[in-house]
Amino acid sequence: MTLPATLGEAVAALSAMPAAVPVAGGTDLMAAVNKGQLRPAGLVGLGRINEIRGWQYQDGHALLGAGLTHARMGRPDFAALIPALAAAARAAGPPQIRNAGTLGGNIVTAAPTGDSLPVLAALEADLVVAGPGGMREVPVTHLLAGRELLGPAELIGHVRVPLLHAPQVFLKATGRTGPGRATASVAVVLDPARRGVRCAVGAIAPMPLRPLEAERWIASLIDWDADRGLAPEALTAFGEYVAAACIPDPPGEEQLPPAVLHLRRTVAALARRALGRALS
Ligand SMILES: Cc1cc2nc3c(=O)[nH]c(=O)nc-3n(C[C@H](O)[C@H](O)[C@H](O)COP(=O)(O)OP(=O)(O)OC[C@H]3O[C@@H](n4cnc5c(N)ncnc54)[C@H](O)[C@@H]3O)c2cc1C
Repeated sequence: MTLPATLGEAVAALSAMPAAVPVAGGTDLMAAVNKGQLRPAGLVGLGRINEIRGWQYQDGHALLGAGLTHARMGRPDFAALIPALAAAARAAGPPQIRNAGTLGGNIVTAAPTGDSLPVLAALEADLVVAGPGGMREVPVTHLLAGRELLGPAELIGHVRVPLLHAPQVFLKATGRTGPGRATASVAVVLDPARRGVRCAVGAIAPMPLRPLEAERWIASLIDWDADRGLAPEALTAFGEYVAAACIPDPPGEEQLPPAVLHLRRTVAALARRALGRALS
């Protein structure tokens, strides 16, 4: 395994060994190796690259290193900065996974159950990609649209997240007690400067879903200059709007199967609660 000390060295190592794959915490990659799904010809370890292990401030944004672990993002100083991403990090698997697993790995694996993904979608974050041609920025929405994210020898270096200085909430249902993969998750982010509510639903589709009409509707009901309170009926209606947008009724007389109906109710409850907490 090659262990570069900088992003530039890592890109050079991957360019020199096109069949090698990058590895950060290894929680996803080694699981795939152990299951025989992947046999990398070489590994480029990202664990010694200090420049991607922390974060810095830049023009009203936080530039998060792709090597930030879930455990690090779950700590109070990070939670004060980006509360929903901290909540997602705290919910991402058992402690040994959170200690090793990274933000970059979560994004590149792009599992439907990846807890950071709905939060990054709601935050409208951008990925800063390092490659042989230099740096480029890719909106997270590209990933959500299922487009190919990384070219040969490219790495996610950082994730640029706007600092909104307003409440944001991530909630996850797992269908069991204790840590587990999401059966559904919801991120709700308030953006008072733009008088906006942004919401993303995770785990129920290959990529997080944004119920844009429900976002616009609920934002129009909020009194942004006063207490931002909403009646319980409006919160319930928002939850149902979000759930119906993400899990629409089948055409004609057909009924949703009971398991899908249950999932829709779960999404509705998560969205209602998440918005209620954000506004309280
Ligand atoms: C038991 C268990 C429970 C889990 N529970 C959860 C959970 O509840 N929620 C959740 O979201 N996830 C969960 N996971 C998944 C996993 O821990 C996360 O996806 C983790 O964030 C992956 O990060 P990593 O650093 O370990 O990635 P790695 O395994 O090192 O890499 C994953 C992929 O990303 C690529 N990669 C990594 N970093 C970069 C980079 N900077 N640039 C380009 N490519 C990169 C690798 O080449 C590989 O393809 C769980 C995993 C296990 C094994």
